[in-house]
This record gives sequence, structure tokens and C-alpha cells, in this order.
Amino acid sequence: MKNIYDLSIDELGEYLISIGEPKFRSGQVFSLLHKGYIVADMPNIPKSLREKLKEDFYCELPTIVTQQISKDGTQKFLLQLHDDAHVECVLMTQEYGKTICISSQVGCKMGCAFCASGRDGFVRDLSAGEILSQVLLHAKEGISNIVLMGSGEPLDNFENVKKFLELVIHKDGINIGSRHISLSTVGLPKKIREFADMGTGVNLCISIHASNDEIRSAIMPMAKRYTIAEIMDASRYYFNKTGRRVIFEYSLIDGVNCDVSHAKELAKLMTGFPNHVNLIKLNDTGAGFRAPSHDIAMKFMDTLIKSGVSCTMRKSKGDDIDGACGQLRLKKGKSL
Ligand code: SAH
Repeated sequence: MKNIYDLSIDELGEYLISIGEPKFRSGQVFSLLHKGYIVADMPNIPKSLREKLKEDFYCELPTIVTQQISKDGTQKFLLQLHDDAHVECVLMTQEYGKTICISSQVGCKMGCAFCASGRDGFVRDLSAGEILSQVLLHAKEGISNIVLMGSGEPLDNFENVKKFLELVIHKDGINIGSRHISLSTVGLPKKIREFADMGTGVNLCISIHASNDEIRSAIMPMAKRYTIAEIMDASRYYFNKTGRRVIFEYSLIDGVNCDVSHAKELAKLMTGFPNHVNLIKLNDTGAGFRAPSHDIAMKFMDTLIKSGVSCTMRKSKGDDIDGACGQLRLKKGKSL
């Protein structure tokens, strides 16, 4: 059965016309769904139509299985989908509003050594509506930013992610500006170019995590397929097409990628186009990697700054509630 949240406004319109409803209903139903109303509770929609929608579509939002609240206010949700697959999303409150971090796949194929998301392998892609549903669970709280940084590789589920972006940006839906959306990728050059060609202006974040291919290959299997040079070329392309600076994520891993020499090497990569480096100290997921000391992390950042790189050290939010990707789902899996 098709998920109602997968439908674009036009698809919803075609369906409504096919069952003899007036066309204006499409905007009304689309808008209510995207404001977070579930079908059964939609105001101003005749009961008969609500019943018909429930007959013809899967209309449920994911079930919240667990909710954890961190000391810093970050909330992490483990969600159950229609087929018992589980995904996580994280809600963070900042001075400027609420940011939701959502998943694009159940599990992940990328196999990064330090990441919990793919440790038990890949299960399935999320549909556009399932990606959207994670936002809709919190739509009534007012979401100002969306980050596709939960489990999964968004560019490995590109068709559904594209449709999700169209849905979430739609003026009759959540109507969030593309500049308030960030997509994080392991770095798939061909897909980055395709994404650039879409011209959405969504913020592109690339998980670089190493300053050379040798180190990157040791922690990220995809580095054996695509070199840093290819990723940097695609990043420049993204900037040239969209005018958006590219953000590089760099998780500091003790004894692996945080020597001063690595910072200097990274700085060389960051030349020639507008970009920003987001440093984060590794979240320990029990994979045998540790975060470096505060001193090592600060020295790494200082070296980047002195080399002219725009960078910040991201505060790890929610680390007391297994904030690192995939950790909650993994724990759930172990307890099943
Ligand atoms: N597949 C996407 C989204 C992954 S999650 C990607 O690779 O970008 C978002 C970010 O968290 C990525 O940069 C990822 O490498 C990073 N990450 C995963 N596990 C981590 C950990 N244990 N500590 C710090 N960062 C981690």
C-alpha cells in the first residue's frame, strides 16, 4: 500500500480527482499533512474523505519507540516504521530555533569504521515520505533547520532524497528554505555533481575525515573507490553551480588523523574555493577508536586557522544519550 506522505501535491491532486473530489482539496490535504495532522484528525475534511484516504493509503506516521533527553536538551527518538524497521532522529534546540537530524536509510552500505549506523549492514532505503515523516512528527513544534545527517547515505538513496527535498521545500508544505537544509555525504563525486545540477542550494557537507587517501582508506571503505582529489573536484563544481560554500566534516580520531602535519595537509586541500571545516571530536561507539585530548584537538584547529582555513569545533550534542549516528538503533537491535 502506498504511503500517503510519498505523494507530491500533483500526485495527490490526480488521486483526488480520480475519486471525484474537487481539485482544491489537494492543496488543503497536502498542507494539513505537512503541518503534522494525521489523516484521522484533519480539520475541514469530510469524514468520508478521511475514511477513503485511510482505505487507499498507508497514513501512519512512525511510532516513537523510545525518547531520550540529554542534559543539553537534545532529544533522540528511536522510530519504528510500518515493517518493523527502526530509524533514529535527533531534535536539537538552538538559540535560532529547532534543528532536526534525520535518517535516509535503515542501516548503511558505506561501512565507515568509526560509525555505528552501518555496523549491522544495510537494511533498506527510506521512501521520500518516510524521510519526511521524521520531520512531520515534530512539525507542530516549528522546525527551522533540517540536517540529513542521521543514519544512511543520502546520495545512495538519491531519487527518494530528491523527492523528499521537493516535498519539504514546497510552499504549501513545510516550506523550509533550501538554505536551512544540509545534506551530509560520504563523498560520491558523480552524485555530488548531479545534486549540484539540481540547483537547490541545499548546504552540502562532505565527510572528509582525513587529509590523504591512505588514512581515509583505512577508516572509510568508499575512499578506495573515490579519491580525495575527485571529491574536491566535485566540491568545486558544487560551489560553482550553487554559489554555496561547501562544508567539510572532520571527526578527530586519536592517533589516526589529528597530527599537526594532517592539519597542514588538510589546509592545502581547502584552497581555491569557499569552504568551511567542521571539526568534531569522535564520539566513542565502541569500535576501538577514541577522541584525542582537548590539547591535540585545539592544536589541530589552531593550525588550520593559522593556515587560513575557516573552521569551527562542533560541540558534540547529546553524547550522553548515544548521540552518535546509529547507536540507538544498534542497541535496540542487540536487545531484540
Ligand atoms: N552518510 C552520511 C551521513 C552520516 S552521519 C555521511 O557519511 O556524511 C553524519 C556525520 O557523522 C558524518 O560526517 C559521519 O562520518 C559522522 N560520524 C559517524 N559516526 C561518528 C562518530 N562516532 N563520531 C563522530 N562523527 C561520526
